[in-house]
Amino acid sequence: MELDLVVRGGTVVTAAEAVRADVGVRDGRIVALGERLDGARRTLDAGGLLVLPGGVDTHCHIEQLEANGTVHEESFVTASASAFAGGTTTAICFASQFKGHPIGPTLDEYRRRARAALMDYSFHQIITDPTDQVVAQELPAIVAMGIRSFKVFLTYDPLHVDDAQYLRVLAAARRLGAFVTVHCENYQAIRFMTEALLARGMTAPKYHAWSRPPVVEREATHRAIALAELIDQPIQVFHVSCAEAAEEIARAQARGVKVWGETCPQYLTLTAGHMDRPGFEGAKFMCSPAPREAAEHERVWAMVRRGVLDVISSDHCGYSYEGSAGKAQNGRDASFRDIPNGIPGLAARLPIVFSEGVSKGRIDVTEFVALTATNPARLFGLAPRKGTIAVGSDADLALWDPGRRVTITNALMQHAIDYTPYEGLEVTGWPVATIRRGEVVMQDGRVQAEEKSGRFLPRGPYALTRGRGVFANGFDPVG
Ligand SMILES: [Zn+2]
Repeated sequence: MELDLVVRGGTVVTAAEAVRADVGVRDGRIVALGERLDGARRTLDAGGLLVLPGGVDTHCHIEQLEANGTVHEESFVTASASAFAGGTTTAICFASQFKGHPIGPTLDEYRRRARAALMDYSFHQIITDPTDQVVAQELPAIVAMGIRSFKVFLTYDPLHVDDAQYLRVLAAARRLGAFVTVHCENYQAIRFMTEALLARGMTAPKYHAWSRPPVVEREATHRAIALAELIDQPIQVFHVSCAEAAEEIARAQARGVKVWGETCPQYLTLTAGHMDRPGFEGAKFMCSPAPREAAEHERVWAMVRRGVLDVISSDHCGYSYEGSAGKAQNGRDASFRDIPNGIPGLAARLPIVFSEGVSKGRIDVTEFVALTATNPARLFGLAPRKGTIAVGSDADLALWDPGRRVTITNALMQHAIDYTPYEGLEVTGWPVATIRRGEVVMQDGRVQAEEKSGRFLPRGPYALTRGRGVFANGFDPVG
């Protein structure tokens, strides 16, 4: 059997085990795992390296279209380069809906833009306005297209949905066999706190954290789960920042509710104190939920180790520090309410989670693979094509030097954003090559791949999108 590529002599890591093996690739897929594979056109020496599945980042805001007519600075091309630089090969990004408008035209435009991608990608469909028309006609068509997850925001103007709208989305997802992801913070509570802070002249970036303390996340997490339980619709709670919100997920999981929790590197490394830097500098660390106190990091890690939080994504959402489209778009004296939320992290995700997790002994390397590739792929219907190293899977690999020490700089991130919130962070463990469907797309930091070589990944029905169909009195509100 002739092979296109053999990755030789590395330690192949999956969510289950780490074993010495060669990986044989043909036509973009893994076709052999074994000892001393040969007869390949190209051989890559992975001696002393870990061979990991390419990272799967299921929460990335890339070239996202906004209701005010703007587009996120990070394009599918720059985001792909950043992904490859950090060992990630697949991302799920966000198609928008603008309130008062149908989804179709916005989705068409987004699909057109995404075709420039170098990485493989899929979409979550944001739903801000689940009208009868959207629920009855657009959502079935979107699911049929292979977009099998919806995203709702319980807070944020102009995105947020109220409980009635959220219930409609849950019911539609259940009928269609789609997954639902939720941004959990209490809209009215944040408004109230924000107005109280601004009325007292407390406008600096650091007050972002004051406006949305853990209790507003915990309450919305509880409510999001309770309503999903009512409809019997599986959900993932996005970007859990603190243990008290994770506890809500743990309790529901113990009851058998199909709820999963995600966290992000920012909740393992950044603190509210970062937003208290002088002048406007704190804006670089503003995201929602807000980074918490330093002691929270260990509590979130404990929830990761318990399996309550089983996906670590980046929530990459870049706004440059300089420039009129970025953090200062409303001026450098803008109140925290008027500074766009979000931080970039696509390239930094795997190195930070590896370093803070594996290198510091908090998790082992198989858990690292589960958190960053296998679990996200499985949860969103991309497995086993993505997120693992197995015969038949796409040959998406990250060759990883577990001992390499690197100080993170913005240049290493290779994104379109002019800063990284992780500047100066020292990590141990770094990708030396990234392979996407058998093609070496990054080696020693140099990204090389054709535009439009990324593929859209349509997602079909899979078991996790189904509820359990169990109602105490036998009445199914959807069926
Ligand atoms: Zn997000």
